[in-house]
Amino acid sequence: MLHAEGPLLTVDVGDRSTETTDIDEINETFIGGRGVATRLAHDRLPFDADPLGAANRLYFATGPMQSSTMSFTGRMNCTGISPLTGGLLSSNAGGFMSRNFAATGYSAVELVGASDELVVVHVTDTGVEFEPVPDLAGATVPETVEYIETEHGMESEHVACIGPGGENRVRFASIMTSESRAFGRGGLGAVLGAKGVKAITFDGDSSPEIEIPPIQTDVHRDAATADHIMKRQGTTSVTELANEVSALPTRYFSELQFEGVEGINGDRVEEKKFKKATCSSCAFACKLPTKDEERGVETEGPEFETVMSFGSNAGVDDIVD
Ligand code: SF4
Repeated sequence: MLHAEGPLLTVDVGDRSTETTDIDEINETFIGGRGVATRLAHDRLPFDADPLGAANRLYFATGPMQSSTMSFTGRMNCTGISPLTGGLLSSNAGGFMSRNFAATGYSAVELVGASDELVVVHVTDTGVEFEPVPDLAGATVPETVEYIETEHGMESEHVACIGPGGENRVRFASIMTSESRAFGRGGLGAVLGAKGVKAITFDGDSSPEIEIPPIQTDVHRDAATADHIMKRQGTTSVTELANEVSALPTRYFSELQFEGVEGINGDRVEEKKFKKATCSSCAFACKLPTKDEERGVETEGPEFETVMSFGSNAGVDDIVD
């Protein structure tokens, strides 16, 4: 199987209508969630639409290799006009949502319109439900995820949602999935908030059947057992290199090397890592569950952007501080 399968589902959150459209030709021409979503946006989304208006559209789509154990396939794409730049934005999140998205049987889901009350949109292989959730106004992402788990029995990998930032249309607000993975940069969370959608969930039992050649199992096993610095340290593995080549923003870009790099580099993060973690089926497993016993802090990361932004660029020389 080379291409995503299934129709486009259009969900109008304004008038609560839905529609399905055959997009086989697009699925066969564009690879992956980003390709399909970008083509759909090009065809269906007026590029002069107000990013925070009802005419903007959000496209959720993923690649064709769902339910395989092929590394890097468990990514999920979201595309729309960015309220930060005014241009078309595609943002890509890991975690485990793509498998549940594929289980709905749709290759892409398009959100249009705007709801006049805060809702959760539930997309399954048997239909779409709109759930008014006035009590979730102002709820954080963990509170929203907890509500959906309690009320609907769906864990965080079924959920894409926003916190107060998205509701308040902060122009760099993210949509969060799998609780800690982000459709970040560019403010797609504000677009979801402007549509009055607190969360969208995906569930079903209609994943397309895919045939995986046996060699994939061997490749996956080799990748899972091989050592690589990025598997141990994620993106923080580049911190030392960035410093060495004078590319580590320091003290708000006034310098490009940081004398305290040892306190924020990949080795320091690896010291705090307490287990392996990954996105769905990815043998690379670059995620960074970390904790500091002394401070009683347990979290995920930091990644390079964080150690750079809150470390060297802020003049802070310890990731725990
Ligand atoms: S575990 Fe790391 S490498 Fe694998 S899909 Fe997730 S972010 Fe990418």
